[in-house]
Order: sequence, then C-alpha cells, then structure tokens
Amino acid sequence: MDEIVGLCKRKGFVFQSSEIYGGYNGFFDYGPLGAELKKNIKDAWWQDMVQRRDDVVGIDSSIIMNPSIWKASGHVDGFTDPMIDCKESKMRYRADHLFFAEVRIAGEMLGVVSLIESPEMLDEAKKKAEKLKRKLAIKGDLDEIVLICAVDATPEQYEQIPSPATGKAGTLTPPREFNMMFDTHVGAVRNDASKAYLRPETAQGIFANFKNVTDTSRLKLPFGIAQIGKAFRNEITPRNFIFRSREFEQMEIEYFIHEDSDWKTIHADWIKTRREWFTSIGLTSEFLGEEVHPSESLAHYARACTDITFKFPFGEQELEGIAARGNFDLTQHQEKSGKGLEIFDEASKSKLLPHVIEPSLGVDRTFLALICSAYTKDEIDGELRTLLKLHPRIAPVKAAIFPLVKKNENILQISNDLYKKLQRHLNVVTDLSGAIGRRYRRMDEIGTPFCITVDFESLEDNTVTIRDRDTTDQKRINLEEVLPFLLEKING
Ligand code: ATP
Repeated sequence: MDEIVGLCKRKGFVFQSSEIYGGYNGFFDYGPLGAELKKNIKDAWWQDMVQRRDDVVGIDSSIIMNPSIWKASGHVDGFTDPMIDCKESKMRYRADHLFFAEVRIAGEMLGVVSLIESPEMLDEAKKKAEKLKRKLAIKGDLDEIVLICAVDATPEQYEQIPSPATGKAGTLTPPREFNMMFDTHVGAVRNDASKAYLRPETAQGIFANFKNVTDTSRLKLPFGIAQIGKAFRNEITPRNFIFRSREFEQMEIEYFIHEDSDWKTIHADWIKTRREWFTSIGLTSEFLGEEVHPSESLAHYARACTDITFKFPFGEQELEGIAARGNFDLTQHQEKSGKGLEIFDEASKSKLLPHVIEPSLGVDRTFLALICSAYTKDEIDGELRTLLKLHPRIAPVKAAIFPLVKKNENILQISNDLYKKLQRHLNVVTDLSGAIGRRYRRMDEIGTPFCITVDFESLEDNTVTIRDRDTTDQKRINLEEVLPFLLEKING
C-alpha cells in the first residue's frame, strides 16, 4: 500500500489536502493525473448507467438542502457511529473498529491486549500477547487468542481494555453515538433555526426531487434516477488513504420499482450489472467479491443489501452497496413534507409510492481499487519496471507522442501535427526529453496505454510506431489510422 500511496503522490495523482500546512486528516486533493482519472471514472459511469440506458435519467442536486430532509430521512437522529475516547492520549476510536483479546495460559489470565481492526490483527495480537508473557516472565504456551470487538465487551471486560495509544487500561470512555453529519449555518444569523447540513449521501437529493423529475419526464416503472456528487461524513477514524475520507464523491442510483414486482430478481440483476461494469473498466475480477448483509443487521425498512467487495491491500472491503430499501424514503418525505409523492402506474392503473433498489458507489474507492488492481511490476530486458495496467477508457493520458530525435525539423513537424490532431479528441501528451526507453517508462508508470513514435521512416511513408504498454509490442501504422485505432481501444 505504501508503494501505491508513494506513486500517487510522486506522479501527481493524489495529494494530502492542505499539505503545506501539515495536511488535514481525512481530506485529499487530486492532482493533474488524478483529476483526469477521476473524471474518466465518472464519465464512464454516467455514460453506462445513465446515457446508454433508456430507463435511467440523471440529476444534479444541491449539497446543502432544507434540513427537514435530513430529519425525515432519519440522518439527524440516526446517522451515527459508536465512538470511544482515550482520556489520556485524547485519541478517538470507532468502537466497532477496536478489538481486544484476553491473554491466558492454561486458563489463567495474564492481561488484555488491544488493536485496531486490520487483516493482520490476529498476528499482531499474538505478538503483543507473547510480549506480555515475556514482560511478566511467565513460562508456558498461550491459550488460543480470541479477538473480541469492543462493542461486544461485557462491562468487566471493557474496564480492562488497554488504550491502543497508551497501553494502559481504564482510560477509555464508554462508547457513545457520534453523528457523522457536518453542520453549518445558512444566512446571517447563527442559531438552531439556521443550522443546516453538508449532505452525507447524494441519495436524498434524488428522493427530494422525485416529484419534480417524474412530473417533467415521461418515465414508466421501473425507472432510475442517478446522481454523481460530493458527500461529507465526519468519520471518526478516516483511514486507508482515500478509502475512508471525510469528503468524497458518490455515484448513486435510485431504481424505482412496483412494490409487487419481483424485487429479488431486479436486485440480483443490479448486482450482476454493477459487477460487469467494474470488470469492463478494468478491475480484475479475482479481486471482486460479494458480501450479503445478514437480515438481522438490516435497517427495519430494508429488504436486502449486498456489498460488492474489493480485495484492497489492507483487506477485503466494501466497494459498492446495493440495497433493496422498500419505499421508506419516499414514505417519509411524503409524510413529513405533506406533499403527495405517489405516481400513477399505467400498467396496474393505480397510484403508488414505488419501492427502490439502490446501487451506491464511491468514486474515490473506485479510484483506489483501479490503481490497486492496475499496479504491476515486471522486467523488460533485464530492467525492472513499474506500470499501471489501466483500461484505456480510464487511463488519464490516452497516448504519448514522441519525436524520435529533437533535431530534425520534419520529424518535429509530423509529431506536432499528430499531437494537435489527437488533442482535439483525447487527453494526449508529447515528450521530447531523454532516451526513448526512459520516455516509455515514464508513461508506463502513469498508465498511458499507447506510445507513438515518429521516426525517420515516418518521413518516407507516413507511418509511425505504436507501442502497447502491457506487452511492449510495437507495430507500424499509417498516421491516418492513429486516431481511429485509439478511439476503438478506448471506446471498444
Ligand atoms: P462503510 O461501511 O465503509 O462506512 P457505508 O456502508 O456507510 O460504508 P454507504 O453509506 O453504503 O457506505 O455509502 C455508499 C458508498 O459510498 C460506499 O460503498 C463507498 O463506496 C462510499 N463511501 C462511503 N463512505 C465513504 C468514505 N468515508 N470515504 C470514501 N467513500 C465512502
């Protein structure tokens, strides 16, 4: 993971926010290549999920909305995570991310160790337990280490959990619910009445506009409304780079269905559609998985939820959640706003509040998954190289144009003409400095799928070499064929 974070910074994909002031925990900035890559992810999603479907339309709602929306949706009262503070170190932990284990030999308790959730936490707990045994100079084999989540601790166990920061027990506060919405004030007066929220999800903007959209378009059930936009959550412990941050972007669809329709099949179809989309933009399918939420962990109104997971270097984690949410949100907004939100369904000749299937994905998590999936090291002619095997549709730079030599006017002219021509359609770069091999390596590292070299042969027959990033194979093609070739590779 450190190598990926290092590459992202070195090459200008992702920077820490406010870096010159020491950074700002949970916030990130996207550099020139990152901004392109992120835009390509959003464009691909919008094209495939909105523009190329007859049953989905898109909207773009405001980030700050009437606070009544968040009251009705349940976010003001219930959008919380359990939080624990360490009174001594002032560190803060999410209770469901804090684990502990009792260390015993033949049933006799030596002490308790604590850790923050990670794929290696069992190994870490064993190491800590061994250290404790050595410190106490006690002999014998340790009993099996069993990790317990802090939220499941009995009051007696809780008192003995050492703070991960200080190693001392007795300094952790009991877990308390912490609302993750950022608030602000709208207008000149700052009081309770002017309090508003930065949206923690884009979905409510869709529900709040349901009537506007259905009144102004000719949608028939089933249909979807989609939105891409920023969301803000005051995460207790932002971590794992851009995986969990406090400001991020979401791409969400509310897919409205008749309440009597076969929702299980529609839900399963969306899971399939979304998985296929991930592989179509280049995510390695072996890294993808699914996690079905057990029914007892679902919200009371939800019928089912399946996460599409990705095997990140720090463990298998949620990439996208696909929930069957009944018609809870529309019912709430209808009741609390006092405005009728029912639509007339031609097929059943009845007025109804449709149910919904909600595929909800983070742009930044997709970004990280794509970089992790694409990050590769291989050896070319005895030389190690690092490359990003990004799909041409997603790659920030689609092609690099190299004049073989700097000092030949004619080569420079052809190269420049080609660059200008391609630039009108695609994000391309030109690079004149250094040996050709070094120019290739620079492009491989940022995931540029094709490098085009204008050489002496080009002067004679109007052809150029085009090199494939992954195979390093080169072929000659006519100058006229370069643009159609690239468009075909990018758009399929
Ligand atoms: P988690 O359990 O990881 O906190 P969640 O279940 O609360 O996530 P949802 O509310 O379902 O997440 O949000 C939908 C999607 O938005 C997630 O699948 C993820 O891709 C993205 N997302 C949610 N929270 C964050 C965050 N803090 N940083 C980046 N992306 C996020």
